[in-house]
Amino acid sequence: MFRVVLLSLYVAVGFAAKNYEGYKVLRMKSLSEGQVEALRLLLDEQELDFWNFPRDLMVPPSQLASVKEYLDAKNIDFHVWIEDVQLKIDSRFSGKPRTDEFDYSVYHTLDEIYEWIDSMLADYPNLASIVNIGKSYEGRDLTVLKMGVDTGKTKRNAWFNSLIHSREWVSGAACMYMANRLMSEYSTEPDIQHLLETYDVYYMPVVNPDGYLHTWDPDGDPMWRKTRSPNEGSSCLGTDGNRNYEYMWGGQGASPIPCFETYRGPGPFSEVETVAMADFFRSRPDDVFDIYLDYHAFGQMILSPWGYTADYPLDYATMDEAMKVMTDAIFDVHGMNYTYGASGPTLYPTSGDTIDWFYGDQNIIHSYTFEIRDEGEYGFFLPEDQIIPTGEENYAGFVALCLHIATP
Ligand SMILES: [Zn+2]
Repeated sequence: MFRVVLLSLYVAVGFAAKNYEGYKVLRMKSLSEGQVEALRLLLDEQELDFWNFPRDLMVPPSQLASVKEYLDAKNIDFHVWIEDVQLKIDSRFSGKPRTDEFDYSVYHTLDEIYEWIDSMLADYPNLASIVNIGKSYEGRDLTVLKMGVDTGKTKRNAWFNSLIHSREWVSGAACMYMANRLMSEYSTEPDIQHLLETYDVYYMPVVNPDGYLHTWDPDGDPMWRKTRSPNEGSSCLGTDGNRNYEYMWGGQGASPIPCFETYRGPGPFSEVETVAMADFFRSRPDDVFDIYLDYHAFGQMILSPWGYTADYPLDYATMDEAMKVMTDAIFDVHGMNYTYGASGPTLYPTSGDTIDWFYGDQNIIHSYTFEIRDEGEYGFFLPEDQIIPTGEENYAGFVALCLHIATP
């Protein structure tokens, strides 16, 4: 009952503290290289937030006139893509009544996600186990769900995680759906039985629990992306977990300034959340991990290393083939197009990201970042009725990748 009341409160009034009324997202039209460089300078403006660089830029009402003036001066063609960000935030909830049974078609609070992990263990005692890899900065469990069957033989290993960026809610919602499909189809689908006999699959639902809680907090910020650790000499909290990994840390596409959304942290692995995940892998030298997948939103893209450079990695041909397998499988479910490519050359450089470390340090060739739905209509605030379709298509992509790798 309490949950129903609480939820309707969210729906009715939105979030009390940080409000995005009047914030607009501007979408740039085709850009010359010089114009991209002109936009790059806006990355240094703390008040502005590129939802997708260089295409989509969120601007607060107070900055709108000056940003428009700047874009006009650079002859950059743009239109207002989202008129009012707060309206998008408020309308993602479908208003569907909550049930006692876990509902995959709605967004869930952090507590509900932790309960879900426990329920997986209870529902699938022969398939599921829990691995705690540490605590978040604010002391919350960093919990991983392990799925697989003991065959008595050496198995392959796959890992996927969500919500390193706390505002990207659909990454968690879609991945929980995927984990549940894996478990529930083990006994009915020969492919899935084969998969769970071949791989142990690790799923970490909430890499950044402190940030995720903050996005749900009535006194918080629905747009919060980073961790919640304090920064010396700054009033701004948090580090971007996906710029904090050690491999080529501190290069391009990661800010040295704590107030920025892409703040890299004071040093590599400065965040307990990122170091906990790294330690988990570093402590298992005998386990071969074939797959590392990091789920984000939004953009409908699959990205491979490298992030830190525009150069292609040595193994790119292998990656390219696997990404094609995944995007084809995704397309076959609901006809959604996901593009793919190497992160740096395709998008823009991002140093210290997860996949560069998992490939560059841990030698996992199949290390990919997923930017799942949508292409920007709702951006970070995907309506709940798209959660299950998003989960369905990405489940197909995940299964296809596992089977592709394991097929000689
Ligand atoms: Zn993200």
